[in-house]
Parts: sequence; structure tokens; C-alpha cells
Amino acid sequence: MDTSPYNSTIVERIDLNDTNFIIRVRSDAAPVPAFTAGQFVMLGLPHEGPDPSEEKAAAAAAANPAAAAAIAAARARKGPRMVKRAYSIASPPRIRDYLEFFIVRVDEGRLTPRLWKMKPGDPIWMELTAKGEFTLDEIPTNVDLVTVSTGTGIAPFVAMLYEHLERPRWNRYVLFNGCRLASDLGYRDELEALARREPRFVYLPSVTREPADSPWTGLRGRIPAQLEADRFRELAGFELNPASAHVLLCGNPDMINDVQKSLEARGFVTATKSTPGNVHYERYW
Ligand SMILES: Cc1cc2nc3c(=O)[nH]c(=O)nc-3n(C[C@H](O)[C@H](O)[C@H](O)COP(=O)(O)OP(=O)(O)OC[C@H]3O[C@@H](n4cnc5c(N)ncnc54)[C@H](O)[C@@H]3O)c2cc1C
Repeated sequence: MDTSPYNSTIVERIDLNDTNFIIRVRSDAAPVPAFTAGQFVMLGLPHEGPDPSEEKAAAAAAANPAAAAAIAAARARKGPRMVKRAYSIASPPRIRDYLEFFIVRVDEGRLTPRLWKMKPGDPIWMELTAKGEFTLDEIPTNVDLVTVSTGTGIAPFVAMLYEHLERPRWNRYVLFNGCRLASDLGYRDELEALARREPRFVYLPSVTREPADSPWTGLRGRIPAQLEADRFRELAGFELNPASAHVLLCGNPDMINDVQKSLEARGFVTATKSTPGNVHYERYW
């Protein structure tokens, strides 16, 4: 029986700055899971420190020596306790060699400080089934797609963009990404280059804490302000209209709540599992 907690390997790592990084993960035995752009998988590492389930099994075996072998076998079958977290897949589904993830280190977090220390060649656990309904499946074709992200919440929108770029299923694709610093902006160079050559793609990064004397000449300020009617028209070059647009929100839950409220006041409807709408969201926490 294979009891290794790992089933995959980090094959590449790109650091953006001292908190934000991209990793590519290849599955060791099976192919990487098939998925729809926008979905996520869990990444994990073995739990560190005392494992209460291990201690419980040892206590049960001590109390009932006749069952000790069965308890040990059941414990072994369960495998080591893991710390698992969800990560949106940033690479498009047609890439079958690896899955790419854009991750920010949360200093007080349990998993990301450990992921931050990892390098190519290191083993990792990756769930081999992709999950999530934050995809373009239920969104009509030929609408204006307005994708709005904070930080690493840009990941699913990069996957969606590259998946359909050859034959766009949208009228226009606007991509907002709000970050603290310019160096936090994932995929910036390639998205800027793409926006220069694709008239139907608009890339709008915005920073909140970039020093005033930095070379940054782009947008500053929080994302909800950039979506106000006049501001949006000025930035994107068209009217944000509930009759012709779907808005997708991803990342920080406060941003999602603020934008959602403001859009609902302007005639947008948030989609739920059972009711259709033109605002869709994925909260990262
Ligand atoms: C569907 C889904 C997809 C996700 N995809 C991504 C992704 O592509 N990239 C990514 O970096 N994270 C993503 N996350 C968040 C991720 O699952 C973890 O919560 C995050 O990496 C922190 O894990 P941790 O164990 O280090 O921190 P934890 O011990 O779990 O601490 C969680 C706390 O960290 C903070 N936090 C969580 N995520 C972020 C974040 N992205 N930015 C800033 N603060 C955060 C919040 O305050 C949260 O309460 C996703 C979450 C969900 C639900």
C-alpha cells in the first residue's frame, strides 16, 4: 500500500516579489485532472506537529489490545493528516503537463508559509479532481465579460482568457486586478502586451499602496471606485450595462461585497445556485 502523502511534484517556480509566487505542479503517476477554466483543486502538505488522530488511535489500541492491529491498519489506510487549501488553476485546460497556481504567502497562515519555502523538485499533494462552478459554462456567449479580481484572485480569469483567446466567446473582456503594490500584479507584462494587440481585451490593474514617487503610471485606488459608472466608461470605453454584461468577482470578500452591492443598485442581479443572474463570484476566504 502506498502511504506517501505526496502524489505530485513542483516543476517550476516564478517569484514576483517577497510574497507572491507562481508554481507549476505536475502529477507523478496520473495525468493532471481535466478541468474547466475557473475551477480549483486542493494543494496540501502533511500536517506538522502532534497529530490528535494519531494520539486517539494509540489510546484506543492501548484500551483494547485485541483490536490494536485493526486500529493500526485503519489508521494507516487513512494516511497522514494533511493541511489542504483550495487554489484556482491559472493555466488553461489545454495545458496537460502541469497545473499552474498563483499564490500569495499569508504570514499567519498554515499552508502558504510552507509553500513559500518550496522549490522545483519538491514533492506536494495535489487533488486530482478539479472542483467549482465559477466558470463561463452558464454565461451566454457574446456578452461583455467584466472580470474583477484582487491579488491572486486574477488566476481563474487568466485561465478563462487564454482558454478562449483564439475564438473569443465574449464581446469584450475587461480584466480588473487590484493589488497593494505594482510588483504584486501577476501576469502583468503579458496582459499588457495582449491588451495592446487585442482590441476586445482591456487590462486595468490598479494599486493602492505603491509609493507616490514610484515609476508606476497606471491606476491607483480601490477596485469598487473603478467600477462606478462614469469611471468605468472612461476606463473601459463602453457603458457597464446589465443588459449586455456579466460581471465575475474573485478574491477578497470585502471587495466582492462592495462591488456586488453597488452593481445590484444599478440593476445587476447576483446569480445563485438556483437562480440565474449576471454577477458571479468566488470568495477566497
Ligand atoms: C475556491 C478558492 C480558490 C482559491 N484560490 C487561491 C489562489 O489561486 N491563490 C491564493 O493565493 N489563494 C487562493 N485561495 C485561498 C487559499 O485557499 C488559502 O486560504 C490561502 O492560500 C491561505 O492559506 P493558509 O493556510 O496559508 O492560511 P490560513 O491558515 O488558511 O489562513 C486563512 C486566512 O488567510 C487570509 N487569506 C486567504 N487567502 C488569501 C489571499 N489569497 N490573499 C490574502 N489573504 C488571504 C485570510 O485572512 C484568511 O482568513 C482560494 C480559496 C478558495 C476558497
